[in-house]
Amino acid sequence: MLVVMSNGATQEQVDLVCEAIRRMGYSPLPMPGAQRTTVGLVGNDRRVDDSLVVELPGVAEVIHVSHPYKQVSREWKPDATIVTIAPGVSFGGEEVPVIAGPCSVESEEQIIEAARAVKGAGAVALRGGAFKPRSSPYSFQGLGKKGLDFLAAAKRETGLAVVTEAMDDEGAHLVAEVADCIQVGARNMQNYSLLKTVGRIGKPVLLKRGMAATIEDLLLSAEYILSEGNQDVILCERGLRTFDNTSRNLFDLTAIPVAHSLSHLPIVADPSHGTGRRDKVTPMARAAVAAGADGLIVEVHPHPEKALSDGAQSLTLDQFAELMRQLRRVAEAVDRQITGVNVAAVA
Ligand code: PEP
Ligand code: MN
Repeated sequence: MLVVMSNGATQEQVDLVCEAIRRMGYSPLPMPGAQRTTVGLVGNDRRVDDSLVVELPGVAEVIHVSHPYKQVSREWKPDATIVTIAPGVSFGGEEVPVIAGPCSVESEEQIIEAARAVKGAGAVALRGGAFKPRSSPYSFQGLGKKGLDFLAAAKRETGLAVVTEAMDDEGAHLVAEVADCIQVGARNMQNYSLLKTVGRIGKPVLLKRGMAATIEDLLLSAEYILSEGNQDVILCERGLRTFDNTSRNLFDLTAIPVAHSLSHLPIVADPSHGTGRRDKVTPMARAAVAAGADGLIVEVHPHPEKALSDGAQSLTLDQFAELMRQLRRVAEAVDRQITGVNVAAVA
């Protein structure tokens, strides 16, 4: 429930509303706006009786949020949220930042070579997993803490922001020491303990949609993070499991406008896991930007044939540079701009 105060409402009137919400057994969340203050009621999982607040002085209207997720909904916050993970790297505004790098950090040389190349092509953030959620326990599991050290070295070397995955609570604290944005992977989208932990850590979170999750499931998972006081959540569409095996996953482009209509949070696209095949990544990356994605996360490897994970879907360095060249023009066509890339210089 949202209590919208009238234009001239006084601080005492806002305080009275907060007090009434506490008396009802919930928590008030005052949100001062440019025109007027709104007080959110948090802690309910069904419609609440508004009779204690509706008649209070200074109350203009009471809005009942119709979705099971509250704070992530557009009803709660009509304006788009902009999540800034590092200076100049913001998701949700006019600019479209590109995060790129290998699936896994494999060595210091590999991640630094990848970082230099993706930066040269226009990426503003580096991806690379140190903790890897692999389907088989016998597959490469990532370098762990050492991988984080290599990511830190790549960041020092290039200045790129770092996005990397945490798989559990302990890992989340380690990752937070190095990363500008903590990735919660598709397999952990409903790891509620991890969601609460990254909510409390307070660093920006890239939350990937589970491979069989509805958009409502995704938004409810995001709600866990916001409910811990962390508003900096970037949603990510990365493809769904289906009966068709012509691609690794079914990349759900529709999720982008759907998420935008239901939530104020930014949504980025991962055409790499979304398709699973290098030759499908470029067309789907273009389509995602055209569909309004607030950013992209793309797997790029200096030597995909030698990659320890996801080589088949990793772009070569040259393919990534070509993709960036194309994306500039796609972004321009939908009145956006790829972050850090000057359109005029490329025309
Ligand atoms: C990844 O980003 O390498 C990854 C494991 O992604 P997902 O969680 O989407 O499978
Ligand atoms: Mn991967």
